[in-house]
Amino acid sequence: MNTTISAHPYDLIVIGAGVSGLTLASRAAQSGHSVLVLEGENRVGGCIESWRPFDDFPVELGAHTAYNSYGALLTELEARAGLSGLLPREKAGYYFFEHGKTVSPLRRLSFLSLLIHLPFGLLRDKALVSVGAYYRRLFGVGNYQRLLAPAFAAVLSQTAEDYPAAWLFRKKPRVKTAPRKYSHTGGLQGLAEAMTTDLIVRTGTPALAISRTDTGYTVTTAQGELACRKLAIATPADVAGRLLADAHPDLARPISHIKMVDIETLAVVVRRDAVRLPKLAGLIGDTAPFFSVVSRDPLQHADYRAFTFHFRPDSLDAAQKRTVVAQVLAVAEDQFLALTEKTNRLPWLMVEHVRLAAQIDQHTRNLPLALVGNYLNGLSIGDCAERARREAERLMALSPSNESMD
Ligand SMILES: Cc1cc2nc3c(=O)[nH]c(=O)nc-3n(C[C@H](O)[C@H](O)[C@H](O)COP(=O)(O)OP(=O)(O)OC[C@H]3O[C@@H](n4cnc5c(N)ncnc54)[C@H](O)[C@@H]3O)c2cc1C
Repeated sequence: MNTTISAHPYDLIVIGAGVSGLTLASRAAQSGHSVLVLEGENRVGGCIESWRPFDDFPVELGAHTAYNSYGALLTELEARAGLSGLLPREKAGYYFFEHGKTVSPLRRLSFLSLLIHLPFGLLRDKALVSVGAYYRRLFGVGNYQRLLAPAFAAVLSQTAEDYPAAWLFRKKPRVKTAPRKYSHTGGLQGLAEAMTTDLIVRTGTPALAISRTDTGYTVTTAQGELACRKLAIATPADVAGRLLADAHPDLARPISHIKMVDIETLAVVVRRDAVRLPKLAGLIGDTAPFFSVVSRDPLQHADYRAFTFHFRPDSLDAAQKRTVVAQVLAVAEDQFLALTEKTNRLPWLMVEHVRLAAQIDQHTRNLPLALVGNYLNGLSIGDCAERARREAERLMALSPSNESMD
């Protein structure tokens, strides 16, 4: 039998300690709410995971770059821990990898086709249009296929064809006190960890179920039940769908239909002098079995370089992946000083999900429930943080009288 393990209900429980959950929790805690964050894994960060094979040498297995246009994130980080831990990323380019060589993306661009298409393409509204449809018009079909489709797939770690154009590259004001592009002294996961300063976060505590009560919600964990007046679900879409199934089946159903994609990630560390590749931010896969290779070069180290390969799912086994890594880096496998693997998961987003997000907002408008995460406003850390801050503000503004439970 489950027992209630909190003496008093929390004002807010946040399920999931990725950037969405941490931003929302931070914003709500600042306004005086009693907030508890539950995280299923033994670390915070979610898609932000920094592998630390050697002292002082974090290597990103998921997200690698944050920008000073991520205002909601920076505001909360500044309030919790300050911005002094941010590490500027040095300039470095992205290249295509063709026949064993790095090739500039500009080599794949037809300027003539761009000139012909750009003026008409710019007139087109991005709302409710897919990336494929929008950028074919803007750049021309050839430019899209040769250059943009593989480059966007490298950015999103999945095919970008159906992704909503409105959710890619939004213009946001820049926070001038932060570097334009940055990581953190502990890797980006260090940034997520800094955001937990003065927050109550229980890691290793997955939420197993939620139910509605007269005064809010009950969250079931393996240790017992926790009561709260308001609830935020900040998990991946498939988990949110499962958690909502009993309490809000109307919300659960469409969310459960969002497909998830796996990205098979393999990262290696090599001696700096072992690799001849030029300094680079990353490689774009195109026809290769990987979407992208993310390099750690923008945060240079005297002794080592590290490369994170994001492989397409189910294309290679573990030994074949190591062979590809060795070929791309032109090193022998025994020159890998450290190696790790993980499976990243992302939602496969389409234009219809922009409509779904609007419907969810309509449904939750007066509920003490917030749904946040990378399936509701775009994949980037900045998009997640922006939605999380907005939803935190909506939850905080709810007065007891309009917290209707229908
Ligand atoms: C390979 C890769 C590269 C990327 N690169 C970039 C980049 O360079 N820049 C950028 O801006 N974005 C990047 N992104 C996207 C970005 O990192 C993510 O979309 C974003 O971090 C998602 O944050 P989130 O909090 O919404 O979800 P998540 O990070 O998925 O967090 C959800 C959290 O919920 C937890 N959870 C799940 N189930 C439960 C449960 N039952 N109970 C409690 N907790 C639970 C999970 O463990 C996780 O910690 C990248 C993503 C990937 C995968």
